[in-house]
Amino acid sequence: MKNFNFKSATNTKEATKMATGRATFLAGGMSLIPAIKLRLAAYSDLINIKKIKNLSGIKVSSKSLRIGAITKHAEVAASKEVGKTISSLAILAEGIGDPQVRNRGTIGGSIANNDPAADYPSACLALNATIHTSKRKIPADKFFKGMFETVLKKGELIESVEFEVPEKSSYAKFPNPASRYAIVGVYVAKLKKEIRVAITGVESCVFRCKKLENALSGNFSPSAIDNVEISSKGFSTDIHASAEYRAHIIKVMAKQAVSSC
Ligand SMILES: Cc1cc2nc3c(=O)[nH]c(=O)nc-3n(C[C@H](O)[C@H](O)[C@H](O)COP(=O)(O)OP(=O)(O)OC[C@H]3O[C@@H](n4cnc5c(N)ncnc54)[C@H](O)[C@@H]3O)c2cc1C
Repeated sequence: MKNFNFKSATNTKEATKMATGRATFLAGGMSLIPAIKLRLAAYSDLINIKKIKNLSGIKVSSKSLRIGAITKHAEVAASKEVGKTISSLAILAEGIGDPQVRNRGTIGGSIANNDPAADYPSACLALNATIHTSKRKIPADKFFKGMFETVLKKGELIESVEFEVPEKSSYAKFPNPASRYAIVGVYVAKLKKEIRVAITGVESCVFRCKKLENALSGNFSPSAIDNVEISSKGFSTDIHASAEYRAHIIKVMAKQAVSSC
């Protein structure tokens, strides 16, 4: 169904009230509109959330960086605050898609969509993020459920994403040359209490790699990755790369990320 009502909300309460039945939120429309056009999804109402003022903006404190849900990728990439506090996040945003996508797509839309090859979900896991919604606070470890699936309930709106400020971090992506989506993306973060490594593009959903985390906890250097064995079991094989190739590239990207931390 390509016919739908277009509604615009001016605040969170209004937006969540409108989101009943077959209605859904519209942010940048970079994934939602193609899905509707290709008849992969159908909705009765699209609720524009881009006029809700308190969903945008970037706030920094000593321990965390909080980004409003409708903040565009280009804004994150250009933000001095992000560059100073978590530069790997600004680099990640700069590597998303093309200028058109970066000037429409939003961080909230990206993580709500949870594309298996999207970049931001890996940042959320590696940087121990908290997803603030209209109903609750959700730790990133519990947010991403499966392919294009999260724990968000019907009508639950992401308001902001709060990242822990790491001691060191870096994101290395082996991108699809056409879309720039990750064929393999590895986000490494040395946090105050732990080391986290998150991988995207490889399985149906972003995940943390405990083997790499353990190896780097003992010795935070690229050489620590040499002896880690990455099994390709469960990894995706598609026209871009085989599961075995992805397993190999994980180590290459992980080393690259650690070297640039
Ligand atoms: C050509 C192309 C190349 C791309 N390349 C990359 C890439 O290299 N890396 C990458 O990571 N991504 C890539 N993307 C995806 C893009 O970055 C967008 O972030 C993503 O499509 C969704 O963001 P959006 O704001 O457009 O959301 P929309 O398309 O508007 O919405 C997507 C979904 O999220 C829901 N939603 C949106 N906002 C919220 C919210 N605040 N709370 C709850 N639910 C919400 C919507 O209801 C919908 O279901 C690419 C997209 C295109 C079209």
